[in-house]
Amino acid sequence: MQYDIIIVGAGPGGIFSAYELSKKNPGLKIAVFEAGHALEKRRCPIDGDRVKSCIGCKSCSIMSGFGGAGAFSDGKYNITNDFGGTLHEYIGKKQAIELMEYVDAINMEYGGEGTKKYSTAGTRFKKICMQNKLKLLDASVRHLGTDINFVVLENLYAELRGKVEFHFDTPVESIALTEGGYEIKCKDQSYFCEKCIVSVGRSGSKWMEKICEELEIPTKSNRVDIGVRVELPAVIFSHLTDELYESKIVYRTEKFEDNVRTFCMNPYGIVVNENTNGIVTVNGHSFESPEKRTENTNFALLVAKHFSEPFKDSNGYGESIARLSNMLGGGVIVQRFGDLVRGRRSNANRIEEGLVAPTLAATPGDLSLVLPKRILDGIIEMIYALDKIAPGTANDDTLLYGVEVKFYNMEVELDKNLESRHKGLYIIGDGSGVTHSLSHASASGVYVARKLLEK
Ligand SMILES: Cc1cc2nc3c(=O)[nH]c(=O)nc-3n(C[C@H](O)[C@H](O)[C@H](O)COP(=O)(O)OP(=O)(O)OC[C@H]3O[C@@H](n4cnc5c(N)ncnc54)[C@H](O)[C@@H]3O)c2cc1C
Repeated sequence: MQYDIIIVGAGPGGIFSAYELSKKNPGLKIAVFEAGHALEKRRCPIDGDRVKSCIGCKSCSIMSGFGGAGAFSDGKYNITNDFGGTLHEYIGKKQAIELMEYVDAINMEYGGEGTKKYSTAGTRFKKICMQNKLKLLDASVRHLGTDINFVVLENLYAELRGKVEFHFDTPVESIALTEGGYEIKCKDQSYFCEKCIVSVGRSGSKWMEKICEELEIPTKSNRVDIGVRVELPAVIFSHLTDELYESKIVYRTEKFEDNVRTFCMNPYGIVVNENTNGIVTVNGHSFESPEKRTENTNFALLVAKHFSEPFKDSNGYGESIARLSNMLGGGVIVQRFGDLVRGRRSNANRIEEGLVAPTLAATPGDLSLVLPKRILDGIIEMIYALDKIAPGTANDDTLLYGVEVKFYNMEVELDKNLESRHKGLYIIGDGSGVTHSLSHASASGVYVARKLLEK
């Protein structure tokens, strides 16, 4: 079982490495090992009817399998160096954008054609935001939508399956150095390769930490983003979402001078549960197809927390807050904004009587018992700031789901080729801590593939 290249993880990072390598050098013997299922077998059991909340499957179909965490995502490919990762710090801003554009072109070729690309360039909203103490970040965003994103993945798999050997439901247990390469150890068998690309994403974060420890690859702690998902009638934000689709807006709070930002905007979308290592948090989706649209828009409001000395476990901090919400609500908690500012718990009656019908069955509760004051105050301040550019945001019936936590992998020490201190061992995508988005992770996959092809 000897390969030229083994790729660990079949998320966007792994897929785009495999794509570029097999396309440019069909003679290479490449294998991909993926802990999760093949695409057609990925199915989350939550149907809102018989299974209402997360039952903790052995392999979470939302996070794992062909397509990675991106498979059921909204498929928003943000082409920007302003957010989504720090790939540009390794490979330069120009090259990073070129690679993201290249990934976009491939997505178009494999089923994304006809989907819309939005841009903040030249928009009047920049000025309006600035006048209201808000900053609109620069980006172009291709919105594939959950449905088309899935079609693109199906087509990419059809393209790759004859050229690359896929091993699904095969988590890699460890990686060992051998003479001239690496031994990739799975439960029942070992596989050998000259070069190895590791792209295990967020779900592989604990495993990645273990591998770095075993192979003595230095790491440093990253940040954690904590906040809520806001859901409101789509018309309140339609002037922004119709023109920009996703607007990344930053607000600097008056009280603590923290930055609060909007994240992952889903016009006419739904709010969903997300399970990371057994902790249930909240996220959102939207669909390209008009039939699947809802009357609501949702987006996250997040505050970034960095820790240095003596406490370094940013993710542990985020996990504890998420666990607290799971403890109080049995999962995700939902609260009306009006109830939050009045200091009272939401109950099922008040939510039902409200003007915003929730798209996720969450437990009515009190987010002030879960979120630290500093974070909660920042979120409330930002909701009032957003109300100035999108009147109605601060309505009593606006729903807040908590908690939303964006975990970041610790940053792995890599050189400008994304190669670790062990020659031939590359670490890419969200698992490296360098990227945290579809376009950056995919671009890192193409980049490393090209580096290997040069060699
Ligand atoms: C619900 C949701 C919505 C999102 N929406 C967006 C969006 O609209 N736009 C955006 O830019 N980003 C979005 N993201 C984030 C985006 O999906 C990730 O940034 C991206 O998928 C990272 O790609 P990756 O290849 O680095 O890792 P992943 O996509 O996480 O893939 C890693 C793969 O490695 C596998 N793996 C882990 N450990 C092992 C192991 N030991 N052995 C074998 N395989 C292993 C996992 O099963 C997984 O399939 C979303 C994420 C979620 C969860």
